[in-house]
Amino acid sequence: MKRETTANSLGLEELQFETSAIHQGTSYCEQSGAVTPPIYMSSTFEFGNELGFDYTRSGNPNFRNLAETLATLEQGRFATVFSSGVAAITAVISSLSAGDSILAEENVYGCTYRLFEQVLRKFGVKISYLDFSNPENYQEICKQKPKLVWLESPTNPLLKILDIEALSQQAQLCGATLIVDNTFASPALQTPLTLGATLSLSSTTKYINGHSDCLGGVVVTNSEEWQERLIFAQKALGLNPSPFDTWLVQRGVKTLGLRAAKHSENALALARFLESSGKTTLVRYPYLESHPQYELAKKQMRGGSGIVVADFGRTREETISRLQKLRLFTLAESLGGVESLVCHPASMTHASVPRTVREKVGISDSLVRFSVGIECVDDLRADLERVFKD
Ligand SMILES: *Cc1c(COP(=O)(O)O)cnc(C)c1O
Repeated sequence: MKRETTANSLGLEELQFETSAIHQGTSYCEQSGAVTPPIYMSSTFEFGNELGFDYTRSGNPNFRNLAETLATLEQGRFATVFSSGVAAITAVISSLSAGDSILAEENVYGCTYRLFEQVLRKFGVKISYLDFSNPENYQEICKQKPKLVWLESPTNPLLKILDIEALSQQAQLCGATLIVDNTFASPALQTPLTLGATLSLSSTTKYINGHSDCLGGVVVTNSEEWQERLIFAQKALGLNPSPFDTWLVQRGVKTLGLRAAKHSENALALARFLESSGKTTLVRYPYLESHPQYELAKKQMRGGSGIVVADFGRTREETISRLQKLRLFTLAESLGGVESLVCHPASMTHASVPRTVREKVGISDSLVRFSVGIECVDDLRADLERVFKD
């Protein structure tokens, strides 16, 4: 996969993504000659040690290694790792004070919405939502002057693509900090900081780890001021990950380049198959020519990623019962792992959203979200064909 390159701590320049994913963040091996850094299962460190570790809530060799890798892959200077994507979101919003405001894309991730509405509002932070795929709404950034502009692209589950570069320019003009939740694309396919965003956040639970075996989160930035706030939040709010989980993410990310390419290839093939099958009323995938922001997706992403959304036009019960008959797509929440999953947003990820709101944003009872894995695509296609043939 072609992408811009960054300098790195190995003293080598011009390293490509796949190389950095494997060779960055391998410190602390020197004495033993280990090829893979060990897991530092130590809650505390001897006072005054040279490397500056004191207590694992505020730093650990495994956190430092993973942060170095993820900062490089996102093409940023600093990264802070957290116990989950939601912990990373908590760290960012904990920098706000009563009276501050957030202007968010109306299709933000469900747990982000819940945190904003049920927690942050109690502390006097104002939150409003807009459709940022409509450029007419860009001017609201300067009108409302929020502290944070909160984007997600592609969005969940309808895969709307937002123009990160244009929105970053607008936010900069009006003194707002723009944050992109980059979970659905992953740094292999999209680097928000190079498009002008101040913060790029990911749930590493998804594509970055890629093996559905632990939770994690990260925020990457070029801003020293933001980095200080994030490190402070990690220790003051207790949002740190475990050394073991950090090590698992470090192992997973080594193959992110390969996986992202394969997820994208498989997902595009299945999206084309579903679109031409005559069994669907809608198929959404960023790299399908029929996607409303296809050109933008091609411009700001290096692949379409692994999520495909389809509407089979059936009742709620019929939709769920068909999904339960799939053998290779497990009916489960989450996404981004090597194995294929399928989700019924109306009864699963978006069940807590009132029906009227859900339908307004296009999450009907017949909508299905596939997280296409890296299995052989012929087998995946056959599974879908078998279940949706009549
Ligand atoms: C899963 C997810 C999160 C939350 O991450 P966790 O690791 O589950 O806490 C945040 N944003 C998006 C877009 C996600 O898909």
